[in-house]
Amino acid sequence: MAAPRKSAPRRNARVNGRLKGLLRRRQSGHDGISDATWSRTLRTSRYARSLSGPDRQRLRDLSNHLLRAKSFSGAAGLVVTNAMRTRMALHACLPILNLGLDYYADWASIVIYPGDFRVHDEYMDEHGVVHSEIMDLCGQSLSHGPMVLSWEAIRAEDRTPDDHDLVIHECAHKLDVLNGDANGFPPLHADMDGREWARDFQAAYDRFCAALESGNGNTIDPYASEDPAEFFAVASETFFTAPDLINEKFPAVYTHLQRFYRQDPCRHLSREPA
Ligand SMILES: [Zn+2]
Repeated sequence: MAAPRKSAPRRNARVNGRLKGLLRRRQSGHDGISDATWSRTLRTSRYARSLSGPDRQRLRDLSNHLLRAKSFSGAAGLVVTNAMRTRMALHACLPILNLGLDYYADWASIVIYPGDFRVHDEYMDEHGVVHSEIMDLCGQSLSHGPMVLSWEAIRAEDRTPDDHDLVIHECAHKLDVLNGDANGFPPLHADMDGREWARDFQAAYDRFCAALESGNGNTIDPYASEDPAEFFAVASETFFTAPDLINEKFPAVYTHLQRFYRQDPCRHLSREPA
């Protein structure tokens, strides 16, 4: 995995002065994302396009901060371009637009594979038996470790937009584990009620799994039935891609997500052409 970026060593006062000047220009809004790259990247998110001008500017500023704060590295020979970094940064910043970059403070890097990647997983079941399995994944969030993504999966979303958003999905896992295990229960704000969250998410999850079993699960990605953590991650990506779906099928979940992310995508997207 790539090491975090390091600052250039200070050689003398003159160089220092130039570096400070550069830093000031960057912080004053002349960022590393060109206008052309930014407007091309905006095409990959209908929700981002629906934001007001000032909110889109905040999203761009936050994306720049994320690009400076995290390292991006290609695996298996993939060369990561500025356009690819910007694509991932914009989507990673949507969930934290009104939360702040500190919510991502406990991890430092994004690793991108050309396509699905193979992992070897070991886990212990409730009887204490250790199982070993090999899985092909398109995304993975390691606790306190890197986020790992398949570029092919991201490109597929951009070619045929639907309710999937791999980057937001993995970012939701990162938010989930801020207070411990991945269990679909991220650290809530002081004005939110944890018991209501647990009750409403559990009820929605149980209803979703029952509907899937009976063949009526044609709502959000069936992968949400894996466990409550995946239900929260899939609900989060759908909240930003097809919020009407969450609001219609799971209105209590929509309200909790709206209060957690401090955003209301339904209100924005109702004004935006598909
Ligand atoms: Zn997941």
